[in-house]
Amino acid sequence: MSELRQDPLSGRWFVLAAERARRPEAFHRPARQWTAAGDCPFCPGNETMTTNEVLRYEDGDGNWHVRIVPNKYADMADPAGDTVERGERLFRSKPSAGFADVLIESRQHDVTFANHPPRQATRIVQAIQERYQALRDIPGLAVIMPFRNYLQESGASLGHPHGQILASSHLPPVLELEATRFAALEGCLGCDLAAAEADGPRVISEVGDYLILAPYASRSAFEILILPRRCAPDPAGVDPEAFAAALQDAYGRLNRVLADPPTNMWIHSRPLPSASRFHWHAHLMPRLTVEGAWELGSGLAVNVVAPEQAAAALQAG
Ligand SMILES: [Zn+2]
Ligand SMILES: [Zn+2]
Ligand SMILES: [Zn+2]
Repeated sequence: MSELRQDPLSGRWFVLAAERARRPEAFHRPARQWTAAGDCPFCPGNETMTTNEVLRYEDGDGNWHVRIVPNKYADMADPAGDTVERGERLFRSKPSAGFADVLIESRQHDVTFANHPPRQATRIVQAIQERYQALRDIPGLAVIMPFRNYLQESGASLGHPHGQILASSHLPPVLELEATRFAALEGCLGCDLAAAEADGPRVISEVGDYLILAPYASRSAFEILILPRRCAPDPAGVDPEAFAAALQDAYGRLNRVLADPPTNMWIHSRPLPSASRFHWHAHLMPRLTVEGAWELGSGLAVNVVAPEQAAAALQAG
């Protein structure tokens, strides 16, 4: 039976059309193709291909573990400069201002997030936190969003494991929706959601303080929400080891149950500058289906696997 479900965080509606029970195997894909290590700008030895490094963690031998460099394909204006809208009525525009970073997660060219040694996953989270804190102090920014595209079908252009951190002076609509919901409702939406979902049919696993959930109104099959029980507006000050473990758990389940699917991950935290309520969290979305004309034309996504069924499959994974 088909039904409409409203996502508690954003207030957006999604269609659940799980008429045919689809097993996870229905979404498996052929083996992946990586770019060659020798030509890879993120591999050790090719550091000169990525200049103006903004962060580096290394060991005593001078070998780096994690690097953050600017994305050379993003050309963003100074957020402290002119971001005023131009034009009138029909043709309005404004400069895209902020920072676009690439986080090179490992010296290893071919490793999935779930297969990073736990210590390396923790370093990656620490690098995100350190950069997040530095960006947070820069005036003019409205959002800092760490995210990760894995495999080409998710938008990744290189096989070498990497994430990105985008900081923009423009508040993007999805985060604006969520922030508006947090501001409009009494108490904390995130804390209430964690309490309401605990021990329920959509809990995939619990890792320390983190609930790993199949969201009630998942917009697509096998979507995951990592929801910290501890209330904080952003991940800058959380225990990096605990969040890294939750991320690895979620990625590992997707790998095992869906045969290493292309996956997008993004972290939502409080818009800047703001003192309003927000409860940070991470979304993971395996890219298993393509949006069709109805989804594009209506803005109403259709999900073909019930979140309760997805949770059951991922619990076992
Ligand atoms: Zn590489
Ligand atoms: Zn909260
Ligand atoms: Zn969110």
